[in-house]
Amino acid sequence: MSRRPLIAGNWKMHLTVTESVQLAEAIAATGSNCPDRDVLIAPPFTALAAVSNAVAKSPLLVAAQNVAWEQQGAFTGEISPTMLTDLGVAWAIVGHSERRQIFGESSAMINRRLHGALANAVHPILCIGETLTERESEQTFAVLQQQIEEGLDQVTAEQLHNIVLAYEPVWAIGTGKTATKEQAQEVHAFIRGLLTTMYEKSLADSIRILYGGSVKPDNIDDLMAQTDIDGVLVGGAALQAESFSRIICFQ
Ligand code: PEP
Repeated sequence: MSRRPLIAGNWKMHLTVTESVQLAEAIAATGSNCPDRDVLIAPPFTALAAVSNAVAKSPLLVAAQNVAWEQQGAFTGEISPTMLTDLGVAWAIVGHSERRQIFGESSAMINRRLHGALANAVHPILCIGETLTERESEQTFAVLQQQIEEGLDQVTAEQLHNIVLAYEPVWAIGTGKTATKEQAQEVHAFIRGLLTTMYEKSLADSIRILYGGSVKPDNIDDLMAQTDIDGVLVGGAALQAESFSRIICFQ
């Protein structure tokens, strides 16, 4: 089963609007050098309109870093899926570990966000991952299973087609510690196996599972060579055109 690679950059709470447009334009230019893969960027909300406009004629995909479940209403501080589609933004990260850990988002809330996105033609990238304590106490698979089952609660096979999963071990995010390619492949194979128990095997085989956690130019090639790693979600190294371009053009 061949899955089209997806290289995604999460800019987190970085960059002004001007800086965001400059970086997006540089990435759009690089992306065109390596056309057999999808490239996605997730700027901060403040830059979404300008970035979406700047790259509208390129194949570069633009995502929000989160999304609300309702279309409008009394939800101070939230951005709805229809506000995203209004800007031409058709993707959203949900369940990033920083949302779970710093802002206390539960799997139930993340599941609502995911359904809100799906109902409004926004593709969710559902992030899951264990903490260091959970890994060291050998709870990795149990934690991931729970996050996946709760995150995908009430998601139909038809909807799953529109979802990308991102395995991001919390201990590897922004720490410079990458999971080894063997550790990452082991977990990705586990996730795909779990999807096979929840959906048809052919569907599980078609779902893209990204790895995230200190992905850099010097580890991208090894990670992408793994059977079940279909792309990456990159934080720090996505903030410079040079490093992200090297990641996009993995070999
Ligand atoms: C992320 O923000 O999802 C991430 C993986 O960050 P970093 O690449 O900096 O570890």
